Amino acid sequence: MAPFLPPSTISSASSTAHSMRKSCCGRQRGGYTRLTRGPPALPLPPASPHLGAAEAEHLGYYTRRGGVGEDFVTSPEISQIFGELIGIWYISEWMAMGKQNAFQLVELGPGTGTLTDDILRVFNQLASLLSKCDVSIHLVEVSPKLSAIQAEMLTGGKVQSNPENKSAYMKGISKTGIPIYWYRDIQDVPQGYSFYLAHEFLDALPIHKFQRTEKGWHEVLVDLDPEVPDQLRFVLSPSRTPATENFIQPEETRDHVEVCPEAGVLIQRLACRIEKDGGAALIADYGHDGTKTDTFRGFRNHKLHDVLKAPGTADLTADVDFSYLRKMAEGRTATLGPIKQREFLKNMGIDLRLQVLLQNSRDSATHEQLLHSFDMLMNPKKMGDCFHFFALLPHHRVVHPTKKDNPQSKSPLPPVAGFSELSLT
Ligand code: SAH
Repeated sequence: MAPFLPPSTISSASSTAHSMRKSCCGRQRGGYTRLTRGPPALPLPPASPHLGAAEAEHLGYYTRRGGVGEDFVTSPEISQIFGELIGIWYISEWMAMGKQNAFQLVELGPGTGTLTDDILRVFNQLASLLSKCDVSIHLVEVSPKLSAIQAEMLTGGKVQSNPENKSAYMKGISKTGIPIYWYRDIQDVPQGYSFYLAHEFLDALPIHKFQRTEKGWHEVLVDLDPEVPDQLRFVLSPSRTPATENFIQPEETRDHVEVCPEAGVLIQRLACRIEKDGGAALIADYGHDGTKTDTFRGFRNHKLHDVLKAPGTADLTADVDFSYLRKMAEGRTATLGPIKQREFLKNMGIDLRLQVLLQNSRDSATHEQLLHSFDMLMNPKKMGDCFHFFALLPHHRVVHPTKKDNPQSKSPLPPVAGFSELSLT
């Protein structure tokens, strides 16, 4: 099979001036295809997991087309409020966990860099709180095009490639004076006390699809249709495959299942790091808690696109299975969520923040835009209900080590912001 068609080039960065971001219609985003690498043995899983980040750099949808703003738009691109509230989440957790004198903020798949930019603005506004804390930013990004866009957004383009003595491939200083490093893989990011962020990242990773039949579990694979030239089709594996052996849980009750092993590995890595060095991870994506079956789909120019047509030119995505992530973190960290985006943002004080921005804006166009973007983020029929937040936290952040033996022993732990109402005291 010939490699996938080269997709068109990336569009320019989609974020606009603060509080006047893209007016979004249609749909939100998703993933990329890693369907092939020559010469492949057909049939293949819908997205082959054996292709790592290096291949993705050459073959991946993101590395060629970019996606954000072109085929889909994400919450940080819709409103500055989104990133600001996430920035507040990190400060709130940093405070609740004892205000350590340094932390790394590690973002996986930063897109255009808008989310980090909004978070850094909050860090700058709350500089008095962070004055004794060394903050550094670590971005994990495989796409050379997107990392260039991020560098422009965050540093004005003043970056150094392949800095000495660093596992990073690029380095710069934010407009607010904070060091920023770029990596291709989470394992390149230095160990240490860190807060992790993955927004619409996990749904971009490849999945395996499975179907239960009378003869047991089969893997859903992609093959060339012998009847139609250059047309792909789904086929069932004739027998069990290594993936059916390894990824289907014995207690599974669904008939169709999607599993993203790369997401599982990543969560295990984050959980190990948090267990060892402290910190927390905030994961936000559209997904479900182990209930959905067939969510693999494509988007191109904000419209649904057949996943088997013109591979590499459309954004391919599958909902994140948070029940699987929870299993992967088990024993190492506590988990919270998934909680719906509208509940998380409400708990973080989005209503109040909207009122402040409305009061501070004079013109009716900005007013309208603020209300429109608020509706996009919060409306249950738009992004409010389908996007979820999920967190990994050290056990001691959620349960006192001594609580079990002596429930009255210590004052209550502060609630984790977003997952219950915010208290910044
Ligand atoms: N978080 C951003 C962008 C989401 S798009 C937002 O919400 O707006 C997904 C991002 O993940 C892109 O930046 C893409 O280039 C990056 N990406 C996809 N696969 C990756 C991988 N395997 N390793 C690192 N980055 C990846």
